[in-house]
Amino acid sequence: MRLILLGPPGAGKGTQCKRLVEKYGALHLSSGDILRAERAAETELGKKAQGYMDSGGLVPDDLIVAMMVGAMKKAGKGGFILDGFPRTVVQARELDKALDKAGEKIDALLNLQIDDAVVASRMTGRRSCPKCGGVYHVENLKPKVENVCDRDQMALVQRKDDQPEVVANRLKTYHEQTAHVVGYYNGKKPVIEIDAGMEIDDVTKAIFAKLDAVKIK
Ligand code: ADP
Ligand code: AMP
Repeated sequence: MRLILLGPPGAGKGTQCKRLVEKYGALHLSSGDILRAERAAETELGKKAQGYMDSGGLVPDDLIVAMMVGAMKKAGKGGFILDGFPRTVVQARELDKALDKAGEKIDALLNLQIDDAVVASRMTGRRSCPKCGGVYHVENLKPKVENVCDRDQMALVQRKDDQPEVVANRLKTYHEQTAHVVGYYNGKKPVIEIDAGMEIDDVTKAIFAKLDAVKIK
């Protein structure tokens, strides 16, 4: 399976990817998670990326493309699910070139559609575990003990870029630069539209049903 998950920040891409990985076994490649790991490890890339990330802008295309093409090489036969990449038409073109070179192709795109007001509250309510990366929500996906990770009992944290001032900028960036990526793929690849405004389990059911319908395994 080689899938791309598109949609605004906070749409539930990471949440659904975890479930897709459980069912299909593909490698989850989240550009945001990889960048956060680079920052935590204080690499050159992490240092270059931090200003863009904290302000809600996009990290330059050349850095992201090199990072993601490198990550994709680690995926075996099970394939991969790209989450948060490509986020610009330039990145989509470069991804096509890299896949052509490797003799691989994308099976389909899942486009998670949702209103800005809903994603804004999903982002501001998101809490993550600094150790395992587990993602919760203060109302929609509560941990068993308030603000504590179920898996490793670490105190949950709010991402800096999930604070309201940055969230507004991330949505602006999405509409100005990332929303066009769907248009780039229309007519080239199957684009599967998903209503991401439903409850988490219902979104998962819709995704599985639509992937089954187009015989993607
Ligand atoms: P993305 O990867 O697209 O930025 P996440 O998967 O991290 O989004 O989800 C953003 C926040 O919204 C998280 O706190 C998550 O628990 C919550 N969430 C995800 N999907 C849903 C949903 N269908 N309904 C309600 N809350 C959701
Ligand atoms: P995410 O976790 O996907 O919401 O990404 C967090 C931040 O990382 C974004 O707001 C961007 O600053 C940066 N980022 C992630 N993916 C990309 C990408 N494909 N292109 C440019 N910047 C990215």
